[in-house]
Amino acid sequence: MKKNIKRRDFLKKAAVGGAAIAATSTLAAPAIAADRVDISIVATWGRDFPGLGTGAQRFADRLTALSEGRFNVQYFAANERVGAFDSFDEVASGNSQMYHAADYYWKGRHPGWAYFTAVPFGLTYTEINAWIRFQGGQELWDELADDYGLKNFMCGNTGVQMGGWFNKEINSAGDFSGLKMRMPGLGGDVLAKMGGSPVSLPGGQIYENLVSGAIDATEWVGPWNDEIMKFYEAAKYYYWPGFHEPGSMLAAGCNKSWLTSLSKTDQTIIEASATAENEIMMSEYNAKNGAALARLIKDQGVKLKEFSDDVYDSIKEASDEVYAEVKAHSDLAARIHSSFEAARKDLGSWGNLSDGGYLKQRNRALGV
Ligand code: CA
Repeated sequence: MKKNIKRRDFLKKAAVGGAAIAATSTLAAPAIAADRVDISIVATWGRDFPGLGTGAQRFADRLTALSEGRFNVQYFAANERVGAFDSFDEVASGNSQMYHAADYYWKGRHPGWAYFTAVPFGLTYTEINAWIRFQGGQELWDELADDYGLKNFMCGNTGVQMGGWFNKEINSAGDFSGLKMRMPGLGGDVLAKMGGSPVSLPGGQIYENLVSGAIDATEWVGPWNDEIMKFYEAAKYYYWPGFHEPGSMLAAGCNKSWLTSLSKTDQTIIEASATAENEIMMSEYNAKNGAALARLIKDQGVKLKEFSDDVYDSIKEASDEVYAEVKAHSDLAARIHSSFEAARKDLGSWGNLSDGGYLKQRNRALGV
C-alpha cells in the first residue's frame, strides 16, 4: 500500500504540464508505458572532448530522443560526478546506471576487460564488430561483466590508433628500454616486457605529465584527438601504426540489475542507441583524422615515422609473453583469449582478401 501511495505521488510530480494523467489514473498499470526512467551516465572523458566525449554525449542525447523524453538522462563527464577511473565502481554499485568508457581501464580487476576495448596485435573496427556480434565475443563479455553486476554494449570506436608521441626516434626494440610512456591496457604490459615503464593516465592528465617530463612518451588516439591535446609541444616524433590499439571499442556499461528491471522496449532503446553510436563515432574519426594529420605535419612540424618491421617483430614477441600470462590468469581469461585468437585468424585471413587486398590494389593503381 505504501508503495502505491508513493507511486501516485510520483505520477503527480511526473505529470507537471500533463495533469490529465494524474487526475484520471488511480490504478498504476495503465500508466506504466509513461514511466520516467532516471539514468545517470558517468564517462571517462572530459566534457565535449571531440569524438570520445561528444560521442558519449550524443549517445546520451539519443537515449532521450528515442524514448521521447521518458528517459531522464543526466550525463556526467570525468570528474563531474566521479573521477574517470571511478566510473566502474560507480555503476557496479548502482550509484549511477551507466558508464561510457574504454573497458581496458579495468584490466587490473580482470585482464579479460582489455579484450573488449583493444589488445596488442588485436582486431580492427570491422573485425571486433564481427567477433562481438557473430563469433562469441558478446557472450564472453557478458560472462565477464556479469561477475561485476554489469551488462555492456559496444558504443563507439576510434579505429586504428597511432603508435604515439616520442621525443626520440624508435629504431629498435631497445629504444623502448627505460621509456616512461602513457599506455593503458595490455599494450602497457607489452611495453613493460620491452623494458619500458607503462603509466595509465586519464586523457585529462596526459599533457601536463608529458610537458613536465614525468613521462617521456605517450599514446592517446589519433591525429584528430592528438592535435587537440597539443602533444607536439613536448614530443615531435609521431609513430604509426599503433600495435596496442588497432580498433579501440568504447563501451556503454550498464548496472545489470537496473537494466533488467526495465521493460524490453526500454532495454532495446538502450542497445539500439549504443549500436548507432558504435558506427557514428567511427565515421567521425575516419572523416577527420586525415586533415588533422596534414595540419600536424605542416603547421606544427611533426615528424611522422613508421615503426620498422624489426620493431614490430619484437613487439610481437613481447605480446606473446603477455598473452601467456593472461591465459594463465583464469579459465575465463583463457577462454576469452582463445575466442579472440580464433577470430583474429579467421578475420585476418578474410581481411587480406577483402579490405586489405582491395585497399592495396586500389590505392596502388590510383597512386593514393
Ligand atoms: Ca589510446
